[in-house]
This record gives sequence, C-alpha cells and structure tokens, in this order.
Amino acid sequence: MAGEIWVLAEHWQGQISEITFEVLALGRELAQALGIKLEAVLLGHGKKDLAGALGAADRVYYVDHPSLAEMAAESCAAALEELVRSKKPKAVLVPLSNVTLGIGSLLAAKMGAVCINSCVDVSISDGKLQARSLLYGGKMEATVTAAGDPTILGISPGCRPIEAGRAAAVPPVEQVAVTLPDEPKVRFKRYIEPEAGDIDICEQEALVSVGRGIQSADNVELAQELAEALGGAVSGSRPVIDQGWLPMSRQVGKSGASVKPKFYLAAGISGAPEHVEGMKGAALIVAINTDPKAPIFNVAHYGIEADALDVLPALTAKVKERKGH
Ligand SMILES: Cc1cc2nc3c(=O)[nH]c(=O)nc-3n(C[C@H](O)[C@H](O)[C@H](O)COP(=O)(O)OP(=O)(O)OC[C@H]3O[C@@H](n4cnc5c(N)ncnc54)[C@H](O)[C@@H]3O)c2cc1C
Repeated sequence: MAGEIWVLAEHWQGQISEITFEVLALGRELAQALGIKLEAVLLGHGKKDLAGALGAADRVYYVDHPSLAEMAAESCAAALEELVRSKKPKAVLVPLSNVTLGIGSLLAAKMGAVCINSCVDVSISDGKLQARSLLYGGKMEATVTAAGDPTILGISPGCRPIEAGRAAAVPPVEQVAVTLPDEPKVRFKRYIEPEAGDIDICEQEALVSVGRGIQSADNVELAQELAEALGGAVSGSRPVIDQGWLPMSRQVGKSGASVKPKFYLAAGISGAPEHVEGMKGAALIVAINTDPKAPIFNVAHYGIEADALDVLPALTAKVKERKGH
C-alpha cells in the first residue's frame, strides 16, 4: 500500500502558520480513516525548532537547506519532489495561502501527479480520497475522486478549526537531506510590511460589517456607533471600500482580509462568495438584510429580515442599555 498522509507545514516569520494546524486536523482525520500515519514535512533553514509545534503528526520530516530559508515555490517543490519520490506518501496536503500558493501545483507538474486545488474538504469514499473543491472564487463546487498515488491536494484556509490541529505531544523529527541548487532561479528578496496607521480588523473580537445596503457614507456612522458600543470595529464589503466609504484596510473577503472574530454582523451585505470566503470562520454571524433570499442568510447563525438603518441604532441602544451606559 502506498504510504502515509503528508502535510506540508507552512511557516512565516519564524512561526508555524495557523493554516498548517487546520490542515493537520484534516490530515489526521484522513489518516485515521485509512488506518495509516500522518506525517508533516517542514522545509526551512535553521528552523528545526518549529517541528515541536507539529505534535498532531506522528512524525516530522525536516529538510534544512539555505534555499529553503523562505518558502519559495521553486525550492520547496524541488525538495518535496525528492522526498515524495523516495518515501512515496499516499497524498500531500499543501496549505493554499499567499505563502504556499503554487508549491502543490508545481510539485504535481514535476511528478506528473494528480493535483486537486482549492479544496475546502477532503474525505474518504470507497477507500479513495474525495475532495470538495470550490472553483471560480466559490461560484462552482466540484467533487473530485483522486485516482492514483500520490495525490497533491491544495487546501484552502478554514477547512478545520485551528485548535483541532494543535497537540502538546512532541513528534519524532527525522532530518532528511535533499540536493538543491544553491542559487535557485526564484529567490525571496524581502517582505514589505503594509502601511500601519489603521486598526487590524483581523485582531478584532467584534466586527460590524457594512455592505452596499448601507446606502451612503454618512450611514456608516450607524455601524461605527454599534462597533464602539461592542468594543469592536467597522469593516465592509468591497463596494463600500470601492466607493471610499471605508479604507481598503477594512475590506473583508477574497481581495481583502480573512477575519475570524467572535461576532460578525453583516449589515446590508448580500453574501457573495468573494465576501463569504473572508468571514465564514467567524464564531457567531448575524445578518441584517431586507431581502429574505439574500445568500448571506445561508451562512448566518441568526438572520434579521429588516432595514439595517433601523436595526443598527436599535442594537446600539440595547447594547448600551445592557452595559449600563
Ligand atoms: C475577483 C473578485 C474579488 C472580490 N473580492 C471581494 C472581497 O474581497 N470582498 C467583497 O465583499 N466582495 C468582493 N468581490 C465582490 C463580490 O462579488 C460582491 O460584488 C460584493 O461582495 C457585493 O457587496 P455587497 O453585498 O455589499 O453588495 P450587494 O451585492 O449589492 O448587496 C447589497 C445587499 O444589501 C441589501 N440591502 C439593501 N438595502 C438594505 C437595507 N436598507 N437594509 C438591509 N439590507 C439592505 C440587499 O438586499 C443586498 O442583499 C469580489 C469580486 C471579484 C470578482
């Protein structure tokens, strides 16, 4: 039987990325269902200590090479190819983020292997890996059964809770040598920090998010008042940002930020896939929309079919009353 389930461990600025834990949780389920092991692959230079965080895996393969100091796709795919050819895993789960995007596809192309990208879930059906994949920005869903080993699976953020992939156990670490060119064609040169100045919506516990349904820049104030009462911040959908009602740093969604607050209120937001992609991980989602058929109600835990311009001030008054203001 072909080997184990592998997860490529993504790291960024000296830390294992959250998406790695999500993918480890998924990998653990698959390995258990197939009765095989879950192994993590950590590629880096001087990063062996990071392996300690990968306790959800039964074993960590660590490759150390100067070309792997940053997760450049060319070097990572070359290192993985050598490992995959020698150890023959059944599947390689690669996180799909702006750091690791491209590694899985390049690996599959090098190996002539099956590659399924943009997976939001993977399960086992008749002993085979079956992936649910969202295409065209979430407008089309495909269910794909993998044929042949190894299968390379690009996993989108949010497939499992982060905590499900964290484990206190210290995994055995096996250092493996690979042959890589010292001067890769593609080199990571530097990371340019986004300009500071605004709050980080990803760090807020409560977000009051407004969409086109808020109707004017002046009405954003209604959301601001509620956000302040809740101790959170205002964010928005793309049309709100495009019209200049909120700065770019407040955009939630595919071309904005992915947020996971404890509370997300979507006011006058239709729930387009590009928006939902960035907020579906929120713990509690409440939507206010005048249209009962708005897709946002499909992801909301609670829905209010009403005019946001009426509901926002009413909620603000209620929150202030509860807090004794
Ligand atoms: C490549 C690409 C990337 C994209 N990236 C993003 C992204 O990062 N983030 C993003 O948000 N979008 C993004 N989009 C755009 C996305 O497809 C939608 O167009 C957008 O999310 C719609 O925003 P909206 O819900 O505010 O507006 P609309 O779709 O116009 O919805 C407005 C909603 O408000 C409701 N409404 C109207 N009046 C009221 C009222 N008084 N009270 C309550 N409800 C009311 C309406 O019923 C409607 O449901 C992207 C699109 C593409 C193609």
